Amino acid sequence: MLVILHPDTDESSEDFKQTLSHLKHLPNMRLRTHHVQGRGQRLTEIYLLGNTTAVSLEEVEALPSVEKAIRISHEFRVLGRHAEDTPSLDFEYNGVRFNQSEFHLFAGLCAVDSPKNVERMMQVLQEHGQVCTRMGAYKPRTSPYAFQGHGQDCLSYVFELAGKYGIKVVAMEVTHDSHIEEIDSVLEKLGRPTGVMLQIGTRNTQNFELLKAIGRQRTYPALLKRGFGISLIESLNAAEYLASEGNSNIIFCLRGMKTGFGAPHRNMVDFPHVPVVKRLTRMPVCIDPSHSVGTRETSPDGIPDIFHATAQGIVSGANMVLVDFHPKPDEALVDGPQALRMEELPYFLEDVQVARDAYAQRADIARRMQSASGSAES
Ligand code: PEP
Ligand code: MN
Repeated sequence: MLVILHPDTDESSEDFKQTLSHLKHLPNMRLRTHHVQGRGQRLTEIYLLGNTTAVSLEEVEALPSVEKAIRISHEFRVLGRHAEDTPSLDFEYNGVRFNQSEFHLFAGLCAVDSPKNVERMMQVLQEHGQVCTRMGAYKPRTSPYAFQGHGQDCLSYVFELAGKYGIKVVAMEVTHDSHIEEIDSVLEKLGRPTGVMLQIGTRNTQNFELLKAIGRQRTYPALLKRGFGISLIESLNAAEYLASEGNSNIIFCLRGMKTGFGAPHRNMVDFPHVPVVKRLTRMPVCIDPSHSVGTRETSPDGIPDIFHATAQGIVSGANMVLVDFHPKPDEALVDGPQALRMEELPYFLEDVQVARDAYAQRADIARRMQSASGSAES
């Protein structure tokens, strides 16, 4: 059972103590408390773990600090939606708010190569009002002989340049728990000029020890990519690993599935799953059109395939887009063929806005449809 307390419940208050003591004394029950920091308010959620069938919702809802109690019906205890009106996860990190309604673009380099290219990327992002980016330092590559990323060596200049150009959040993949420590100590040494969202790549979706390490720390939010060869439910369980360790500041990212049937795209684009993830869980959902489509090819209407796929994810309600750009795609050390060019960014942003507006209109149509069918029934 999920017990949601009133926003900003004071944990030293008598009401809270009375509520907690009542819950603790329920027979054979373990309690797990989660805090969700939203803009301007802090939510406390208590999970009752054990056999809750004998516990009545009314009894729990009558406790003084309780806003709402919900029976948890399936396996995603922390991240699951459980009931239609369970609130979305909602957190703010370094001044940027993430939930199932907000939208953020993380355009940037698949792999950091030189300070010059990082600076050019950040500069162009700032010129276009962007405060988030992606920068790969630790690259998991198919071949051990391929460029593995500059790793720790590039962190200082990436974070300094991010600070210089007003970037608030850098999505950066980590492939080993030691990378969290490396990132943290460089950020600390520099006085935290920017923030980092720890990305777990598709190859590591079921690296449970990495998931647990990222779930144990509370400093950085996580971006979990769907595994490219496992079911959606298995990937959502991987996200639950993070949350079960205590960190529920998680964004789930669709990035395409590995199958020959997606060809000539690099992967089979899976963005129709955006609303499915939002329905099954409370996580904001990201799409990665670059790694799904994998090519800068353009269709006869003049629209690049990556723009098409991006719009398809956004009209379905995506909350974040992770997309590869590069000042000189021909010289990129990783994934150059799928990187968009700097001069394409303003058009990409315009296209994204069209898709966002279309999504808002579609949600409005659905609201009208629901209220019409509600009044027809009554
Ligand atoms: C990436 O985003 O750079 C990446 C390697 O993605 P994925 O894990 O989805 O292949
Ligand atoms: Mn890549």
